[in-house]
Amino acid sequence: MSAPPERARRRVNVRTPEVMERVQAEVARHYQSSIVEKVRARGGVLSIDGTTIRLAKQFGFCYGVERAIDLAYASRRVFPDNRVFLIGEIIHNPEVNRQLEEMEIVSLPWRSMDGRYDELAEDDVVIVPAFGAPISFIDKVESRGCRIVDTTCGDVMKVWRRVRGFAKEGVTSIIHGKADHEETRATASRAVGDDGSGHYLVVLTLDDIDYVCAHLEHGGDTDAFRERFAGAMSEGFDPSLHLRRVGVANQTTMLKSETEEIQRRVREAIVRRDGDDAHFSVFDTICGATQERQDALFELLEEPLDLLLVVGGYNSSNTTHLVEIGEKELPTFFIRSAACLVSLEEIVHYDIHRKEEVGVYSEALASDRPILVGITAGASCPNNLIEDTILKVFELRGIGAEAVRSA
Ligand code: SF4
Repeated sequence: MSAPPERARRRVNVRTPEVMERVQAEVARHYQSSIVEKVRARGGVLSIDGTTIRLAKQFGFCYGVERAIDLAYASRRVFPDNRVFLIGEIIHNPEVNRQLEEMEIVSLPWRSMDGRYDELAEDDVVIVPAFGAPISFIDKVESRGCRIVDTTCGDVMKVWRRVRGFAKEGVTSIIHGKADHEETRATASRAVGDDGSGHYLVVLTLDDIDYVCAHLEHGGDTDAFRERFAGAMSEGFDPSLHLRRVGVANQTTMLKSETEEIQRRVREAIVRRDGDDAHFSVFDTICGATQERQDALFELLEEPLDLLLVVGGYNSSNTTHLVEIGEKELPTFFIRSAACLVSLEEIVHYDIHRKEEVGVYSEALASDRPILVGITAGASCPNNLIEDTILKVFELRGIGAEAVRSA
């Protein structure tokens, strides 16, 4: 049997049973929470002296994130003396990224490659994050001969298979996502297909898709189109040529209802143009974990609540969509950690519209009456941060940690 190609040999499997046993104990120590487990076991409700918290049925770490973190920890254990790098962030959570920094896992730039990529050497280990990375980055790391630990989530790879398939069939991928998000950049790089001749367009809003649909149906100003989607389309994208046959896919962490609406609008525009939908393909690529967290929040919102806390990294797409869902129903605060609950008078909250942290006041939190606080978290948020949040809510309401632990 001939030896595997050099590239394949440099992909390393760090998931040996002995390593994983050690790693999982370490990960559990860093991120698990006995209080969260206790509240979950009680149906997600904890009520003490007029302050009640309700947890969503599903929140926090998803299977893809757990796997990526395990693999990152395992990389350090298996290669204790090597330089270990990571393309960007393993996931969008500052606490997790801080832990990796402490383990001397060094983050490399993810938007573009700089000289540090040229300095990578054969003994270096490079971790590909859960979102994946553009093909050009992987090619570069492989060309330097590094060992690669690939933590790309299987659900992201499913999207890649789909957009590659579209490219093979001459179908343009319309990707519902954020053009500047790591996952979408990685997906877009696959949407041009193996020979690079395919095309893609990334759309974010319903306004974007209405604009695209108008072009698709009636044509329009190509320059204005290219200006609007600069940085969000394949090289040489021509709306008069490349919107003939389209397939819709999405970043795995989008808001499901919005993705469905985008699919519907594109299909209808094609039917109006062609008389049928033969030139329209769709593949819903929202991952199960994102969907479960969104569904669990809708269920939580059926209960009476005074306010909702959404815990997670501000650059986390799936967390941002949980905030969007909450905001439509009740006062919702997007916090990165318990430290954002500064006092009864001030919550430091990330305003997703202004894209900045602002100090805000919650009448409910500050009031003397009994209150109900809903809590959820995105797929990249560890349980220890939820625990801190639970403890802080009670603390601000005059209930100490001991009372919470013994409740
Ligand atoms: S949010 Fe979904 S796609 Fe992303 S890592 Fe988790 S399971 Fe995978």
